[in-house]
Amino acid sequence: MAKSPEYEHPIKAYGYAARDTSGVLSPFTFSRRYALCDLIFGSLLNMSTGDKDVRLKVLYCGICHSDLHFAKNEWRMSTYPILPGHEIVGVVTEVGSKVEKFKVGDTVGVGCLVGTCGSCECCANDLESYCPKQILTYGFLYHDGTLTYGGYSDHMVADEHFVLRWPENLPLDSGAPLLCAGITTYSPLRHFGLDKPGMKVGVVGLGGLGHVAVKFAKAFGAEVTVLSTSSAKKQEALQGLKADHFIVSKDPEQMQRATSSLDGIIDTVSASHPIEPLLSVLKQDGKLVFLGVPEKPVEISAYSLMMGRKIVTGSATGGLKETQEMLDFAAKHGVTADIELIPIDYVNTAMDRVLKSDVRYRFVIDVANTLKAP
Ligand code: NAP
Ligand code: ZN
Ligand code: ZN
Repeated sequence: MAKSPEYEHPIKAYGYAARDTSGVLSPFTFSRRYALCDLIFGSLLNMSTGDKDVRLKVLYCGICHSDLHFAKNEWRMSTYPILPGHEIVGVVTEVGSKVEKFKVGDTVGVGCLVGTCGSCECCANDLESYCPKQILTYGFLYHDGTLTYGGYSDHMVADEHFVLRWPENLPLDSGAPLLCAGITTYSPLRHFGLDKPGMKVGVVGLGGLGHVAVKFAKAFGAEVTVLSTSSAKKQEALQGLKADHFIVSKDPEQMQRATSSLDGIIDTVSASHPIEPLLSVLKQDGKLVFLGVPEKPVEISAYSLMMGRKIVTGSATGGLKETQEMLDFAAKHGVTADIELIPIDYVNTAMDRVLKSDVRYRFVIDVANTLKAP
């Protein structure tokens, strides 16, 4: 018979998890694997891992909209309990015997991935986020068959390949969201050539991902237009985030004025929304990159793609090498998230507020100071 989450592994752990599609999170006790044991010790204890593992005490963890999608099983792939969190910053407390990159006391990050096959073409090319056998930080089965649990918890254990070195001058709390929102926006800006000075980049949806997209695009020297449904965000976008233009995407007149003006659009919207108006503001050969993952499929007419030879594509987080590059770039250029730091018992209210787009612009949980041992 399968062991319960509390007894699968030898080390006690605790956090906040959702048990069903209500998505409501509540205190949860479980267990995590050893990081110290070598393979012989590990096999004696019937453990499959350990020597390349890093254990970290979680300090901060961002709340990504994907955490909500997962907690409520909106993508129909959740295995409960879902203990979310993939924007994790912590301090190393133990390392396995074969760990080379980290030592106890290092500040580190863990993002969306904790495992891959390690042998496919994507893995070989540092594109781990496209590995067909990727293991997400929470809600997925690990190599040993146990469920992965994320960063809304006292500590984490991850193979060192999936652990990021934290740049010295990057803040821990407002830097945490870079581990998902940061790499998810940095990677497509780079890959689709929107990282050149003068490029005209549109960002749709000014939320957690969107506001970081604006900051990276500006750091690359692009001319940035925010397309938002919230006219109240105009001043913040132009003054606070230094966007060059702001369009209320629901206003046909404002959209009309922007016809054929953008080289590329980064679409971060979490819910179903009209796509045709976005295609109309792209230049010839312009690219619309989907990052947001609404529940329902999108509808696009072939005609609006033909007229202007437009490209519709998507992008999923980024590989580990590029994530490290992004963190170093962010530290150098002062890119962090605008955050609201919250205690963990505020998490359900925070999620409700994310759903209403009522956050400027990312909630980060102060895990170490507010998560109490059961
Ligand atoms: P978020 O903070 O909630 O931001 C989403 C923004 O979308 C909102 O601030 C809002 O911006 C806009 N929006 C929300 N509902 C809308 C609606 N009904 N119609 C039009 N616009 C709406 O979410 P996030 O954390 O940035 O995540 C955004 C999406 O990206 C989620 O679906 C998430 O799962 C996905 N994601 C994907 C990846 C990936 O690898 N591709 C990685 C992380 C997250 P305005 O108020 O400005 O309109
Ligand atoms: Zn995320
Ligand atoms: Zn692979």
